[in-house]
Amino acid sequence: MKKGFILTILSIFLVGCTKNQEKVKTIIEQNENSKISIHYPITNIKKMDKNIQEYVDHIYNDFKKEYTSEFYYEPELNIDYTYYNYENKIHTVSLKTYMNHEEQPPIEEIKCITYDQTKKRELFLSDLIEKEKWNPFIEIIRKEILTNYQTTINLNRLEEILKKLSEKFQNFTFNEDKLIMYLNTENLLKSDKEFFQITLEIKEIPFILEQSIKIDEEQEVIKPVDFIVDPEKPYIALTFDDGPTIYTEKILDILQKESVQATFFVLGNKVDMFKDDLKREVKLGNEIGNHSYNHKWLSRLPKEEIKEQIEKTQEKVKDITGIYPRFLRPTYGSINERIRTASNLNIVLWDIDPKDWKSQSPENIVERILKKAESGKIILLHDNHKRTVEAVQLLIPELKKQGYQLLTLSEMEEIKELEKWR
Ligand code: ZN
Repeated sequence: MKKGFILTILSIFLVGCTKNQEKVKTIIEQNENSKISIHYPITNIKKMDKNIQEYVDHIYNDFKKEYTSEFYYEPELNIDYTYYNYENKIHTVSLKTYMNHEEQPPIEEIKCITYDQTKKRELFLSDLIEKEKWNPFIEIIRKEILTNYQTTINLNRLEEILKKLSEKFQNFTFNEDKLIMYLNTENLLKSDKEFFQITLEIKEIPFILEQSIKIDEEQEVIKPVDFIVDPEKPYIALTFDDGPTIYTEKILDILQKESVQATFFVLGNKVDMFKDDLKREVKLGNEIGNHSYNHKWLSRLPKEEIKEQIEKTQEKVKDITGIYPRFLRPTYGSINERIRTASNLNIVLWDIDPKDWKSQSPENIVERILKKAESGKIILLHDNHKRTVEAVQLLIPELKKQGYQLLTLSEMEEIKELEKWR
């Protein structure tokens, strides 16, 4: 019954997104036992999107079947992506699946797809290298593997694997700088991982595509609108997690119209696809917070990986807006010592959670918030649902009517600091 219910929600969500020209699909589910966070790009190439969808559905359904039983304690599924679009002709997507539950080391798997839109077909590694230079290219790879994994390698197996690269090999991605290949470790290396990664600089290999026109976008300096904070009036903070998405724009329209601000806890793996929304968030005086790179369950990661999740997002946001986030909201609201010491960001959760991610009406979301509204409180919302947009539209006028100023978390911090001195 429950499974059916979740799948129905999922399919409604997916259908909804296609209509709205979604750029990244995000599914975040938090059930009593399991946690799921899935992100994948929409390329608008039918065949490619179909392949991606099939892969994701297969992993999702298997995970539901296998892991959400009482045998596994708090299983987690995370699917993340990289997407590179070469002059709108060649598209390359990699999907990285990560499954984790407390008793075993995490399982990681990678699936890559490269598609040539002009030729209307999938591309393999051998399509990207000049024919007469294939052998020297393989030589480069052999050298790279031997230098990096000298002591642990099975040499016979290495030749087999190199040979396979000429046969419809697709587990690779590239951008203007690098070619990354994911090779199976099976019988080749002693490793607890399923695959290992070989990275080559594009300029060092006989790559068939013209050396790219790398456009360095100039860093735009964004000057936010100034708002006046009145220390005498009650205040409250709206925060939005898991974006940006196609709904972010609509929420920004409402905030702009109402002349109020909020804080957006963004995911680093999505901001590139929504650069304009991110810039607009800042321009309108909103604050951007860090909600990890790809919504892995932070409190279960080793400290080094937590740091990586935080720092990658910090740099992405800085690249687009020129500003580093000051606040971190850990995924699934769970905090531990490793998270506390992984960065010097201020960690912040929330006071009011109307559970807008669970299916319910906008009116219901608003009612739950108003019931608990009080000066100084932080409200948790998610800018990836239509019902949240509708709720925000109803909520803001109501909060204003009750005399609240809607502040960002930094402004709220300042006002609280002032209060201490009074
Ligand atoms: Zn979240």
